[in-house]
Amino acid sequence: MISPCWLSALTFILLLDLTCARQIALLIIDVQNCFLPGGSLAVTEGDQVIPLINNIRSEFKADLSLVVLSQDWHCSDHISFASQHKGASKVIQLLYDKSGSLCDENNSCTEVAYNLTQHLWPDHCVINTPSANFSHNLVHEPSDLVVRKGYNCKVDSYSAFYDNGGFRHTELHDKLQEAGIDALIITGLARDYCVYYTAMDAKKLGYETYVVLDATRPVTKATGDSTVADMKIKGIQIIESPDVAGVIVQLTSDANYLHSTFILMISIILCFFKCL
Ligand SMILES: [Zn+2]
Repeated sequence: MISPCWLSALTFILLLDLTCARQIALLIIDVQNCFLPGGSLAVTEGDQVIPLINNIRSEFKADLSLVVLSQDWHCSDHISFASQHKGASKVIQLLYDKSGSLCDENNSCTEVAYNLTQHLWPDHCVINTPSANFSHNLVHEPSDLVVRKGYNCKVDSYSAFYDNGGFRHTELHDKLQEAGIDALIITGLARDYCVYYTAMDAKKLGYETYVVLDATRPVTKATGDSTVADMKIKGIQIIESPDVAGVIVQLTSDANYLHSTFILMISIILCFFKCL
């Protein structure tokens, strides 16, 4: 017959077990019509990431605590559109004051606090247009979290966490924290912009970060290669889709190992002070 003392110790350990379980989220970055073949800012072979992403979410459904879809969501006169800067080169500089307001004809800044390099793009992913819709081939479930970005007309936003100036954040980090997420598997478009900046912010925020390389495609090979190299330097894990199974097993077994050690220590302390 187990004593009440031992029973309380085991209950405590069981509660710890439930609260310490490792939580993993799948991030699907900007798999929208504008970035797919036929779209206004098409990424070469962008459509080829879709079956891989669908497979990851279906194969590891039980292991994924949350699936997040980010959505580029721009005003029709967005600052990143080349159509708004007639005669400008492909890259311009944008000046902002300390509050993150653009210094332009409507706001002559007394002090410039930020000078951001802005690549100019074709008009894309305009709010409430078919261009901004997720691909109809991408599996999308009601439980998915959709995070919109880039809806500030005067600031671009590659990362799903922050705009390009770091002036404002999306709800993504808060939602991941609420769900107890500590590891992110990142997929989507484009590898060298929105995937890259999202992964870099994720790592800075303390998430264990994995980018599934074959479930992404770059705008250009050169920037694709340089951003992958940079992600590796920063400690982001670059994997391929066949590696996802092993990563999930590893994440779970790491947690179990750490957890087992922790449980053993707690058990010894409890038994020593209370049960003997
Ligand atoms: Zn955009």
